[in-house]
Amino acid sequence: EVRVRFAPSPTGPLHIGGVRTALYNYLLARKLGGKMLLRIEDTDQNRFVPGAEEYILEALAWCGIVIDEGQGVGGPHGPYKQSERKPMYKQYADQLIADGHAYYAFDTAEELDAMRARLQAAKVPNPQYNSITRAQMRNSLTLPEDEVKALLDGGAQYVIRLKVPRKEEVRFQDLIRGWVVVHSSAIDDKVLMKSDGMPTYHLANIVDDHLMEISHVIRGEEWLPSAPLHVLLYRYLGWEKTMPQFAHLPLLLKPDGTGKLSKRDGDRLGFPVFPLEWHGTDADTGEATISRGYREDGYLPEALVNFLAFLGWNPGTQQEIFSMDELIQAFSIERVSKSPAKFDQNKVKWFNEHYLRAKSNAELAPYLLDALHEHAIVGSQEKAEQIVGVMKERVSFPKDFWQEAKYFFQAPTEYDEAVVSKKWNAPVATALTAYAEALPGAPEVSAEGLKTLFNDTMAAQGLKPGQVLQALRVAVTGAAAGPDLFETLVILGVSEVAERLRGAVA
Ligand code: GLU
Repeated sequence: EVRVRFAPSPTGPLHIGGVRTALYNYLLARKLGGKMLLRIEDTDQNRFVPGAEEYILEALAWCGIVIDEGQGVGGPHGPYKQSERKPMYKQYADQLIADGHAYYAFDTAEELDAMRARLQAAKVPNPQYNSITRAQMRNSLTLPEDEVKALLDGGAQYVIRLKVPRKEEVRFQDLIRGWVVVHSSAIDDKVLMKSDGMPTYHLANIVDDHLMEISHVIRGEEWLPSAPLHVLLYRYLGWEKTMPQFAHLPLLLKPDGTGKLSKRDGDRLGFPVFPLEWHGTDADTGEATISRGYREDGYLPEALVNFLAFLGWNPGTQQEIFSMDELIQAFSIERVSKSPAKFDQNKVKWFNEHYLRAKSNAELAPYLLDALHEHAIVGSQEKAEQIVGVMKERVSFPKDFWQEAKYFFQAPTEYDEAVVSKKWNAPVATALTAYAEALPGAPEVSAEGLKTLFNDTMAAQGLKPGQVLQALRVAVTGAAAGPDLFETLVILGVSEVAERLRGAVA
């Protein structure tokens, strides 16, 4: 059975890269008829941020990523939060020690610092606690057995470390990268259990993936360096046969391609990198932070999902617009790219415009009605539908409807300068007055009817329609550009238009 998991740490708002990881997991689960799990990895209590877990659940739900089993949903392998699973991990660390694959280490922070300083002074390129350096440290491999026992009995502080072999090639097949081969000398004797009895990410992650029967681990490339260590853990715990398949997703780069897209980039570069607006604390500084979110900026979840799907995957065809269901049909790990994907802010906007325009006028009208309500203006559903209908080709975000369409509700108080200076003169003003007088008696109030009336009125004034059209638009809307002018007049109604024309001429 295909079982995948999204395993975020609640250290702050979910970054857009995290949402992509969740999305790819979800697409694969649905495509292969499997299950999508959510596990909260909160073993690092120092970096825990209140509210982050709720944020993750809300953000996934907003994107339409449905969790089948796990935190917030429940299931047969719970609890799904690692801090609530604490008693389950110790036995596996003990088992590793008993089998000779892990050991107790009693080094103090000062001793570890001194070791690193020594290695740095000796210009060792990659200082680590490993098969060479462990020989000089205080651990159950170097100390006599009775001393180890005395230390443990006396309640000395210790961590449990993995005993990484000195000369061995660790290899595994990544579904995206192919064979990955790492020499064990490049792997640290990573801490598996901390002195407070909490497992580290590495141990908890492997134990949970095993107990939760995960079949595929799909995660960001930043976890690739940890994968060989994980492979060793599966082997030493005797779980190699059911080890999940790994797929490490390509990095997301900043829009200019200069480096990894980070949480800070959004605020700095002026676009959101979080699905929802985040009001919380920074895990590192403890400071209160607010970061922009796609939802609050007016992006539709369909647009964000479609955009994210393409950050590292493509269907191999020209098609770019995919609903979630279509993505599920089309998705495959084989088509996920190895090379990093550049985050293109204009592309999300492009998707948003597409999904906004694909909505019916009835679906879009509430956005305008909400804005009207905020401005204490009464508007009918019917009128709002007419307005969003003529406006939707011109807007990128729902909030633009009000900005672009407020002249339907408020007569302009300012007029576009450029048009006034170039197109406004006495004969034009006279012609607009004549049109204002003719409007109430218009034989047919339709875009076509009002246009004919306009052309006829201009002819009677000895002017070509083109000489007056822009002045008409500016007199009625204040703006130099907008949707079809005669449609606009119809929506406004002839008496309102006549009144505005008289106001502009006066
Ligand atoms: N807790 C890790 C994270 O925050 C999970 C990495 C993994 O999927 O193994 O990304």
